[in-house]
Amino acid sequence: MFRFDLLTTDGRARAGFFQTPHGEVPTPVFMPVGTQATVKAVSPRDLHNLGATVILANTYHLYLRPGDERIARLGGLHTFMGWDGPILTDSGGYQVFSLAQRRKIDADGVTFRSHIDGSEHRFTPEKAIAIQENLGADIIVCFDECATPSDYDYNVEALARTHAWAARCKAAHTRGDQTLFGIVQGGVFSDLRESSARFLTGLGFDGYAIGGLSVGETKEQMHGVLEILDGALPADRPRYLMGVGTPQDLVECVARGVDMFDCVLPTRLARNGGALTRTGRLNLRNARFADDPGPLEPGCTCYTCTHFSRAYLRHLTRANEILGHHLLTLHNLHLMLTMAREIRGVILEGRFQEYRANGEWRMANDEWRMTSGEWQPASC
Ligand SMILES: [Zn+2]
Repeated sequence: MFRFDLLTTDGRARAGFFQTPHGEVPTPVFMPVGTQATVKAVSPRDLHNLGATVILANTYHLYLRPGDERIARLGGLHTFMGWDGPILTDSGGYQVFSLAQRRKIDADGVTFRSHIDGSEHRFTPEKAIAIQENLGADIIVCFDECATPSDYDYNVEALARTHAWAARCKAAHTRGDQTLFGIVQGGVFSDLRESSARFLTGLGFDGYAIGGLSVGETKEQMHGVLEILDGALPADRPRYLMGVGTPQDLVECVARGVDMFDCVLPTRLARNGGALTRTGRLNLRNARFADDPGPLEPGCTCYTCTHFSRAYLRHLTRANEILGHHLLTLHNLHLMLTMAREIRGVILEGRFQEYRANGEWRMANDEWRMTSGEWQPASC
């Protein structure tokens, strides 16, 4: 039911296909995040129209509300949320360490209080797998501990737990229609990252997630870790960089061997009146857009850019209208999904290095030019 075919490489950049029970995922791929079993402000129909091939849902949130057992009784996540494509659930580890209150970690698992009502809960590796089996996503991941990226001693301790938990997750996993990914941790430390990749590869997983990045370290540190992992992870398995990123991250992390990405940025930014463009971010609250009849991003073919002006989007944003959240989310997701497809295309054509070096991803839109050191619409 699961198969990863690496079609071609260009430098470290990889283009492939990942086969799942709910469809094929061409890689590199950007996965929109549906934390609460909904990608905020858009419908599954919109997601299909945007060309999304796989989306994310969140174990911690769905366990707390409405409950994984309830979702299982209602036919599983695909039926519950009306999305028939592939789904990936995270393990809940990141949220337990970032959101939950009064957490206590021991060798066996983590006890924590819900951020919603303060009730007490406990996640163990076996519990995280049982919840994900109830939810029924195509791709599930091991329960891990997310340590502060620059604290070496803590990373050593946390990594020992993450590795022991990975072995227990693998043993606990029973569903043949779900594939389990291991999660590489180890902060910004090359020796820890390398030993984590070796340990998990030794256990043997269908894919490898890279956790604990984009949490406060520098881009150089993140890139350094990815370069080490490119050599340490098996070439014939997909690699998923958790929680990254921006259009630029997509290019720079594909260049370092990553296949799969997810990030709340496009959807979260949209709900705050922000647009991602190939040349940077726009804040629609800015007064300079009040009388701007032009599209959000000149040349963009999304529904928002082909039908509405910046002035109208600014008005919706300032009035806090739901349509504003919807239209900005459509544009931001369109950009990330289009860029991932475009990057795959240039890898298959053997032009990725050129595309990256020339900043072609910025110029795919003809109406932007480099003018006095800044990317600007050609009309400026
Ligand atoms: Zn657009």
